[in-house]
Amino acid sequence: MRFVIPTSPAPTLPVLGTDARFPIRRVYCIGRNYAAHSIEMGGNPDRETPFFFQKNPDNLDPSGVFPYPAKSSDVHHEVEMVVALKSGGVGIPAAQALDHVFGYAVGLDMTRRDLQSQAKETRRPWEIGKAFERSAPCGPIVPAEQIGRPDRGLIQLKINGEARQTGDLDQMIWKVPEMIAYLSDYFELAAGDVIMSGTPAGVGPVHRGDVMEAVIEGVGDLRVAVV
Ligand code: MN
Repeated sequence: MRFVIPTSPAPTLPVLGTDARFPIRRVYCIGRNYAAHSIEMGGNPDRETPFFFQKNPDNLDPSGVFPYPAKSSDVHHEVEMVVALKSGGVGIPAAQALDHVFGYAVGLDMTRRDLQSQAKETRRPWEIGKAFERSAPCGPIVPAEQIGRPDRGLIQLKINGEARQTGDLDQMIWKVPEMIAYLSDYFELAAGDVIMSGTPAGVGPVHRGDVMEAVIEGVGDLRVAVV
């Protein structure tokens, strides 16, 4: 196929144990999926209807470097488990949802909180706060066939060695199979789609020079320098 303009490189993530890459199609992110985080954001801790926003596929960044973005003075860390799909469809039952998972990774949903807060106050969309360049640092995808289903265990983020966010995967309000089932009722899911599964309490600002260290028990860890 010929193109009339230069094509962009396909966004990909590394996969642990192979030099083959995981190609990214879409990025869905759930909001307020841990009760304690929902409370800290002024929401309520109940199991309300889930809501999602999206980042751009090329926002996922395995480089280990997070350039502090323009137009914000309050950029927050949100550590999240990333779920990578190898297949999809519509109307996927929760009981079959995990059959579509290729693997899992440790990711960060970096957020220009000041711009997101303005967007909320003015009832505008969130992209300006969420979907900016390199806004989703992400570690390598670990195939599910190696680790099974990570549905409990520590999820933590440290800044410069100090724990800031500490939670457990079993505190997710909407579990991974439920998120896949829900999304598949509204969108056609497909191979290459990834889901960022929400962050525990303790979100807060980062500064240039900080080192973020994220860990998810059974999945792996991720080290990212803020520059
Ligand atoms: Mn998030």
